[in-house]
Amino acid sequence: MLEQAQRVLKDIFGYDSFRGRQGDIIERVASGGDALVLMPTGGGKSLCFQVPALLRDGLAVVVSPLIALMDDQVATLEELGVAAAALNSTLSADQQRDLASRIRRGEVKMLYLAPERLVQPRMMAFLQSLDIALFAIDEAHCVSQWGHDFRPEYLQLGQLAEMFPNVPRIALTATADKRTREEIVTRLHLQNAERFLSSFDRPNIFYRIVPKEQPRKQLLAFLSERRSDAGIVYCLSRKKVEEVAQFLCDQGFPALPYHAGLPNETRAANQKRFLIEEGLIMVATIAFGMGIDKSNVRFVAHLDLPKSLEAYYQETGRAGRDGLPADAWMAYGLQDVVMLKQMLQNSEGDERHKRLEHHKLDAMLALCEETRCRRQTLLAYFDEDMPQPCGHCDNCVDGVQTWDATEPARQALSAIYRTGQRYGTGHLIDVLLGRENEKTRSMGHQHLSVFGVGKARSEGEWRTLFRQLVARGLADIDIEGYGGLRLSDSCRPLLRGEVTLELRRELKPQTSVKSSSASPASQLVRGDEREQWEALRALRRKLAEEHGVPPYVIFPDSTLLEMLRSQPTSLSDMAKVSGIGARKLERYGEAFLDVLGGQADTPKVVADIRHELISLARAGMTPMQICGQLKCSEKNVYTMLAEAIGRHELSLDQALDLPEALMEEVQDAFLDGEGELPSVASIAEQFKGRVPEGVLYCVRAALQSEFEL
Ligand code: ADP
Ligand code: ZN
Repeated sequence: MLEQAQRVLKDIFGYDSFRGRQGDIIERVASGGDALVLMPTGGGKSLCFQVPALLRDGLAVVVSPLIALMDDQVATLEELGVAAAALNSTLSADQQRDLASRIRRGEVKMLYLAPERLVQPRMMAFLQSLDIALFAIDEAHCVSQWGHDFRPEYLQLGQLAEMFPNVPRIALTATADKRTREEIVTRLHLQNAERFLSSFDRPNIFYRIVPKEQPRKQLLAFLSERRSDAGIVYCLSRKKVEEVAQFLCDQGFPALPYHAGLPNETRAANQKRFLIEEGLIMVATIAFGMGIDKSNVRFVAHLDLPKSLEAYYQETGRAGRDGLPADAWMAYGLQDVVMLKQMLQNSEGDERHKRLEHHKLDAMLALCEETRCRRQTLLAYFDEDMPQPCGHCDNCVDGVQTWDATEPARQALSAIYRTGQRYGTGHLIDVLLGRENEKTRSMGHQHLSVFGVGKARSEGEWRTLFRQLVARGLADIDIEGYGGLRLSDSCRPLLRGEVTLELRRELKPQTSVKSSSASPASQLVRGDEREQWEALRALRRKLAEEHGVPPYVIFPDSTLLEMLRSQPTSLSDMAKVSGIGARKLERYGEAFLDVLGGQADTPKVVADIRHELISLARAGMTPMQICGQLKCSEKNVYTMLAEAIGRHELSLDQALDLPEALMEEVQDAFLDGEGELPSVASIAEQFKGRVPEGVLYCVRAALQSEFEL
């Protein structure tokens, strides 16, 4: 059985070996047993039912909650040459009838449909008249009433057990917690299912959490190392989503907004663009994400704190489904906590529920201030033990320094206490720094013993300290009032001098381009590979357009990358690349070989670089910065700039960053003579060592196009 499965894996999917427990799961289901599969996003759940479906006779029925998910999977299967179809409300009555007769004739191997569709009596009767290979229930956690994705229709799927006692069923989810697991078993009648529990670690994701200083600058620094990568930026509010999306566009990053307040058409259009185009950034509230199957999301950035570790894990988990390096980056500050706590307090729900949510938020905070490995902490929260630090998160890579904060912490707590436990950090810091202003004077706080005791530290240091005190539960936020700070019970031992306090020392906030936002993942391809990588991507994009599917359905990034690295020169070499099955080899093999061999025309690629160059220049980057960004030589960049100026696509000011006087001098040098514009060579000597020669070409191009010389 396993041998056959291996063959299907290689011939159809183009993969050499099973990942994790895929092999065991496939064997179990292919031989007729039930299975419950818990595997993280990107773990490779789909193969667990797709391979057995191909090994068994009859129609495989896949239950999936979202149309977008179904369409994506059907497109992927069709590209592999597998007869798959989705039955959903987007089909007309005629199309549905047609599909039904194709199914009856045995021409469809895999049928995707929504749960409410499946449990209709007519559908059940129809399926009972057929030979069914298996039932796969994807996103099985939707059966849980406690989860966020509860779908009442899932509850009815339990009847499959009685109505199809001899058909194997496999339920799959990426939701980790025990309660959900048990609910799936009971409600779907999977008592006899073998359980396959994988580690929930996402080893390819690099985690980094930084204190929020100047969030937009910090975000830019992070993004500047990930040009032309697709990613998601999460914000808490709709307003912020729109502002940040606009800001990024202004800075030359292609970004789209997504939140529940946008018209349906806009949302659908933006989502579609995100899936189909490459290198787009989606700025979104948490309304965005469920059902996003895009495998090459390279980063997820949080500009606001998620409300729990569950949410953080799920949201960051959308990065790097293809297994290639990906980043989870977050900037967080105390204000986030105040806001979330207030939102929570004002939300509906009983006290017990609210208390639970507060605890979840506290766990999230603790991760932010964690001094040990982030991944160990995250996995421990999901009851998974990771014996060694991961070596692949900011704390592991940068190391964390701690310092003895006992004395300043007591001063800070004392400031909270003496001012009456109702002020926010702004005022508390004024008091500690001894700043006399209207507020301190009107409250008489300049007479307090703590007034001015903290002058030795900067405002920033105090801010960090207060944030950590809250994160450690030594102070808490008065959410019934105005969000001021109060003492909590657990700070007493510290105030009494019974314990000391070690806190994490913040590294200097870095917002420059060469920043601490660098991670091992920040560049998928090396500079010298870039040109060919872009050529491969361009071909993939073209094929995707022709076939009306997203690019990653043609080939995932991992396959493209392996092509780039292994440089196949024949179809048989090409067949060895992971992710290239028989069908894709036949369809696309030659075209990709041509690109690798340098035989294909690449006008489109050059066009793409030109396009990017223009947006970078418009966004205010200097020619040298553009060189770095596009990994092009200085000469090439100036040549392309001059061409763009000649075509009136850029102004001279946009293209260059010369001081005004120098610019005038160069222009005058060209205009001095009579009649024809002098050549660059004839004036180059004059500016030698003062401006790069490329500048002269640009100025000449501008004058030429301006005066039609
Ligand atoms: P999940 O549904 O668990 O999030 P997918 O089924 O979408 O994950 O798989 C994630 C990616 O990993 C896909 O691009 C898939 O083709 C790839 N993949 C799955 N199994 C293997 C394997 N055995 N070898 C190589 N790639 C695999
Ligand atoms: Zn680590």
